[in-house]
Amino acid sequence: MCREAMTGRRSQSLRIKLLPSNVHASGQLQTLTTFLINDCLTIDAGSISVGLTPDEMSLIRHVVITHSHNDHIACLPVFVAEAFTELDSPVTIYGIEEVIHALKNFIFNDQIWPDFELIELTNGQGATIRYETLEPRTPVVIAGLRITPIPVNHTVPACGMIVEDEHATIIFSADTYTTDELWQRAAEQKNLKALFVDVSYPNELEELAAVSKHFTPQSLARDLQKLRREVEVYAVHIKPSNRQQVITQLQALNNPLIAAAEIGRVYEW
Ligand SMILES: [Zn+2]
Ligand SMILES: [Zn+2]
Repeated sequence: MCREAMTGRRSQSLRIKLLPSNVHASGQLQTLTTFLINDCLTIDAGSISVGLTPDEMSLIRHVVITHSHNDHIACLPVFVAEAFTELDSPVTIYGIEEVIHALKNFIFNDQIWPDFELIELTNGQGATIRYETLEPRTPVVIAGLRITPIPVNHTVPACGMIVEDEHATIIFSADTYTTDELWQRAAEQKNLKALFVDVSYPNELEELAAVSKHFTPQSLARDLQKLRREVEVYAVHIKPSNRQQVITQLQALNNPLIAAAEIGRVYEW
């Protein structure tokens, strides 16, 4: 549970920030994916240690991973090591079975990085990290938020995440190409406020987008027709070398509800 929830001072709004991928170059170029939610939970951990102070890192107790690709987990090991001395309780890492398997076997395996599941916190409050396996389509409540993983169409097993509090529902697509179930579920959400969707490549690279299973502006526009409702859509995961092209093509869709997400901005609902 996050500190705010524990002290009963949980703010009314749902706060979401797409973390920067680097602290030196342009803050609007995204190579890594991490969404910080209510300061204590993240969706993905590609950039989880970038641009956060040690104090900010020590507030994060829940990390939900959409899939095992490196741009979504790259900074997770560094974050765990950096936060270690500040933590007074374990960090829980959530993901579907394939994600947890990959993290245990390929990252926290005592070769790439120490197995922090076996390293006790200095205050004796248990292991530094613990894993919790998510079942697709089965909601869990984490830090006061209801989170439901929905399988999407990517090159490895991946789930978009429906994140709800009592006022708002936000959906994160993870990395996906054309898909059905996520849009069906989105259409059913009474409090749906926004979608954060992977739009990696410009229309000219549709073929590459199709094999690597990512959207372009045109394939996103086609897929959004399945939603049959109007909602704010924030494009994320835009490859830095194609960023301007993708933004121009998103604008050409002539839908004021679709825009590139601003990295570092706190979105509140
Ligand atoms: Zn991916
Ligand atoms: Zn990715």
